Parts: sequence; structure tokens; C-alpha cells
Amino acid sequence: MISMNKYDFSDNLKSNGLKSTQHRIDILNIIEKSSQPIAADQIFQEMQKRGITINLSTVYRTLDTLYDKNLITKLNIDGDNRTLFEFNRMLHTHHLVCLGCKKITVIGRCPLIDYEKNLAKETNYAIAGHKFDIYGYCPTCRQNSQAKGSKV
Ligand SMILES: [Zn+2]
Ligand SMILES: [Zn+2]
Repeated sequence: MISMNKYDFSDNLKSNGLKSTQHRIDILNIIEKSSQPIAADQIFQEMQKRGITINLSTVYRTLDTLYDKNLITKLNIDGDNRTLFEFNRMLHTHHLVCLGCKKITVIGRCPLIDYEKNLAKETNYAIAGHKFDIYGYCPTCRQNSQAKGSKV
């Protein structure tokens, strides 16, 4: 019902008290899509490839901000003096969606973290993520439909 293809991380940024800027969204997208931990200069190159105008110091500054808010994690590998960045998969959002007015409310805390851990143990899967949204009718829509005499 809701397309997640164009998910732009605005909710992740806002729920962490950050303004959602295009550079932050672009950088999060690149880190999230990357199959491996990625360094700042690789992120910079990837942005240039996509035709995004940015300078390297802005990339570093944005990474610091995202790291401060726990949206990404850092990784240092022996013999590589670069810092690598990874998307923090524990921090993603779920939505409560009203089928009436299409209002979307972000569910702050992921209820599936323990479930995933147990499932991984039981099935020996390396769990990579999940999608989970809840649909219903918000108080306003319920009131409106009750006023009209139908039951929701
Ligand atoms: Zn509603
Ligand atoms: Zn979750």
C-alpha cells in the first residue's frame, strides 16, 4: 500500500532531531545500499557519480553528524587507516498508517529486535532486516465514521 522504494530517511533524521537535508538523505542512501562498510572518500566518489554536488569536507561533517545520532556506525580495520561507515540497521522506522486519511505515524521503537535474535538462533539465518507496518483507522477517522453511523 505504501511504496518503500523511494524511502528517503526523513523519518529517521527527524526522529533523531536532525533536519532532513538532501545531502544527509543521499549519504544515508549510499551507506544503506552499500553491501560493505564504506569510507568517506568512496561515498564522495559515489555522490559525484550520481551527479550530486558536494565537497569532501561536507561529506566528513555529515558523517560526523549521522554518527553522533547513531544513524550510522564506524568501523576501523587493522592495516586500513580509513574509517569505514555502516548503516545502523537497528535504527529503522516502522509506521502506523491510517487507512482513512492516509496519515502516517512513526513507531519509535522496533518491536522485532528480540524476535529477530531468536529467529536467527532457531533457523541459523543471518537476518538482514525486515519490513513491518501497521494499518488501521486513526481517532479522527473513527469519530467521523461513527458520526456517519457506520462502524469502524
Ligand atoms: Zn485517519
Ligand atoms: Zn524493526
